[in-house]
Amino acid sequence: MLIALAHPDDESFGMGGTIAHYSNLGVEIHLMCATRGEAGSVAAELLKDGMTIPELREGELRCAAEILGITHLEFMGYRDSGMAGSPDNENPASLVAAPLEAVTEMVVRTIRAFKPDVVVTFDPVGGYHHPDHIKIQRATVAAFAAAGDPEKFANAGLPFQAGQLYFGVFPRRLFRTTVKVFDRLNRNRAAQQIARLFGKKVPNPRHFGRNQDIDLVMLAGDEDYPEHVLVDYGEVRDLKDRADACHASQLDFGRQGGSRLMRLFARLQRRRDRYMRAYPETSANFRAKDLFLNS
Ligand SMILES: [Zn+2]
Repeated sequence: MLIALAHPDDESFGMGGTIAHYSNLGVEIHLMCATRGEAGSVAAELLKDGMTIPELREGELRCAAEILGITHLEFMGYRDSGMAGSPDNENPASLVAAPLEAVTEMVVRTIRAFKPDVVVTFDPVGGYHHPDHIKIQRATVAAFAAAGDPEKFANAGLPFQAGQLYFGVFPRRLFRTTVKVFDRLNRNRAAQQIARLFGKKVPNPRHFGRNQDIDLVMLAGDEDYPEHVLVDYGEVRDLKDRADACHASQLDFGRQGGSRLMRLFARLQRRRDRYMRAYPETSANFRAKDLFLNS
């Protein structure tokens, strides 16, 4: 199984349960992580002895990979592009600045070398519109098709066609419910007073997350992707929780609102990860519990 994601913590918060579930069953898992999460801000006290943010976050990913049973961990070496519109987008080393063709070739090379049955990446809007999520998703979709084509990327190994391509998805109805609840609370004076007692404000759904850069109202308007496969990871829930805990810089002190949001929604989904099967194409009402089914 090959998983292509963007930042340290995407693997744990987004699909850590699935990874632990399959690793437990003896599946070899190769994780490609495009960046080292350079644009995430972390609490200064976590950066001891001159440690940098990417060093800290790489260590957090190595900790999670060990717990989840990731057998091969590959850093693609791009720089975290930050949220859309942030100055990090302009950095020439950032993933968004890289030519799609070059990112695709790296994924092709790994598909041809590792020969996965199943490839997993983000949905087409990267879950919550993070530009790095969208970029690695596009590269992975292109690479999935190109890897089996001897005419494409001839210098990146012998052609290999992987069996299935999945996108990790989650139901937008969770966003819709959250927006409704916040709207109600924002109109309720008692709720606002209670929040103030705890030194907090009722969140504004247009500026959600610690960086206030998540627009829940926009996300609630996104279309729902089909949920073809539901992977129940109840039997390894403790591994998923322990892997989440490795990413300490992105939990209590982190400012990556998006990461925190993904973690919250993972909790609301009751220990099931959801996937859309992109290849082979399937009917809208296809339902399965296993990513390795061939039908
Ligand atoms: Zn991410």
